[in-house]
Amino acid sequence: MTVEPPPSELRAVATPEPASEWRVALVTGSTAGIGRAVALRLAATGHIVVLHGRDEERAAKAAAEVAAQTGGPTDSVHGDVADSALVSAMMRRIYQRHGRLDALVVNAGIHAAGLLGMVRHDTVSRLFEVNAIGATHTLQASLRLLRRGARPAVVLISSIMGRAGGPGQAVYSATKASVIGLALAAAKELGPAGIRVNAVAPGYIQTDMLSTLDDEARGATMAATPLGRLGTPDDVAAAVAFLLSPDAGFITGQVIGVDGGLAP
Ligand code: NAD
Repeated sequence: MTVEPPPSELRAVATPEPASEWRVALVTGSTAGIGRAVALRLAATGHIVVLHGRDEERAAKAAAEVAAQTGGPTDSVHGDVADSALVSAMMRRIYQRHGRLDALVVNAGIHAAGLLGMVRHDTVSRLFEVNAIGATHTLQASLRLLRRGARPAVVLISSIMGRAGGPGQAVYSATKASVIGLALAAAKELGPAGIRVNAVAPGYIQTDMLSTLDDEARGATMAATPLGRLGTPDDVAAAVAFLLSPDAGFITGQVIGVDGGLAP
């Protein structure tokens, strides 16, 4: 017996729309830590994720690993975010391959601690070059791609130190406060173009960046944290994914703490 296909109008109704269209996302500094967790989460939820790191081989390896783990398509770009020419070259490559960006996560960053009177000038310069100037270059260079995106959204990764400060953290805190200023102003400037911009301020998150924290300091941090633990990279990734999603469609110019309640 042959089964008649349904009339075309019914077939059209019976064929569901794809749950979501692929969105193109760039996550800077995604070879490790928080950036890697963000890349994994986005790749598992309908994004073509462009991973990024300073080194070409490491970025390509991270992209292959995220693709293997999630089944999502990935790509990679590389370059020091402190070098504006390299950042522009990265964006040109994304334009050639994908034509747009729907989501941008400005995450690449470094940390160095030291009392104000002791921090070397080259450490001060490097912290600003990567964390503050690098974030600015990245946002500036991505604008053309974001303007071509669908419901474009940006999340910049600041830090609890950029809001609350801490002894030995003055220079790092200044760079991360500048990321908040960048997010707040960009939200106002880019809102009329439909581009949302928010910042996430993580507390103490278990990544390589915390490797200098000894057991005593870890214990003291956990004791001071209302939720009683250090954060995980995925705690931060969940907040980033929310801010990039349509559920956050009316949220822009905000700084969301992911710190277990530690910030005052
Ligand atoms: P991480 O050291 O594990 O990862 C940093 C990533 O940034 C790596 O992929 C690295 O290759 C990349 N990167 C560093 N400098 C770069 C440069 N000049 N050019 C290109 N890429 C560069 O650190 P993480 O803990 O995952 O930190 C990610 C972000 O979160 C940083 O901006 C950091 O300041 C911020 N943050 C971290 C914590 C924490 O406790 N771990 C807390 C608050 C904020």
